[in-house]
Amino acid sequence: MGLFDKLIKDAVSGAVGNAVSEAVKKAVQPKADALAADAVNQAANALNQTANQTAAAAGAVNQAAAETQSAGGTEAAPSKEEMQAALGTLGSLLGGFAQHAAENMKICPKCGEGASADKDFCPSCGARLPDMTVADGVKCTKCGRQNDPGTRFCAGCGEKLPAAIAAEQAAAEADAAVLKEWTEKLPEFPVWSCGGSGMALELIPDTETETHCFSVRLESGAAAQNAVSQYRQILMQNGFTKEGQYPSDEHLYKRVNGVSMHVDTEHCFEGDADCPSIYFNHSQPYGGYDYKKPEKKQSGGLFGALFG
Ligand SMILES: [Zn+2]
Ligand SMILES: [Zn+2]
Repeated sequence: MGLFDKLIKDAVSGAVGNAVSEAVKKAVQPKADALAADAVNQAANALNQTANQTAAAAGAVNQAAAETQSAGGTEAAPSKEEMQAALGTLGSLLGGFAQHAAENMKICPKCGEGASADKDFCPSCGARLPDMTVADGVKCTKCGRQNDPGTRFCAGCGEKLPAAIAAEQAAAEADAAVLKEWTEKLPEFPVWSCGGSGMALELIPDTETETHCFSVRLESGAAAQNAVSQYRQILMQNGFTKEGQYPSDEHLYKRVNGVSMHVDTEHCFEGDADCPSIYFNHSQPYGGYDYKKPEKKQSGGLFGALFG
């Protein structure tokens, strides 16, 4: 099936952009399989496609398949030109399917699966589907050009396209929902105000200290480092301090009415340099808030005076 895989890939990537090609490919794949499954004419009729072209393509492909099966047989193999023509026809047929799929498909903003345009909710995850189809989303509101699905800016005039605007709005709304959740779940810690997108807040299971993890995506590793430094400053402006036996910038604490608040940024770049994960819980600093470094005993003499 390698040949068909390539045809589908070419057809789909020609008709749509990367962002939606996976979903559209899933819609085109069954049609391609039907075409390949020794019933090219039937599939074409069922799909009201150009039957003549398909039959011609089917003839050549079937002949090639038969030839391959009877390896070393006496029938003449189709010429290279015939095969290329047949494959070209199949390719454009699949391209048409991909375009047709884009016009009649919505993409779920939550799980990324494709759904037919008449659906209001995603059959895969139940999320509300957008009103616009894949094709609507790339029709320019300024000059009217129909762009390739997956495009963000109009190829004719540079205007930002409806699907790109909708995706940005959905992302901003999702971040706002996470920050609202923060004020409910972590009210004692200053809310994140240091930028980024793709925010998430989750309770880490099975931790004695009820640790929450906040993660956020920034444009680069440097931007992420800056954002975390900025957040540490905000914490310190809000009374968080370095405490305990091992005071450090990475662990900041604040004690209010006997409750210890702890922000841990020590391991926050271990997963991804662009996406810090900051941990919040109510644990005490090692050695406690009142830890004092023990004073060294004077050992006397010159050595003691110098190094004691
Ligand atoms: Zn979904
Ligand atoms: Zn335009």
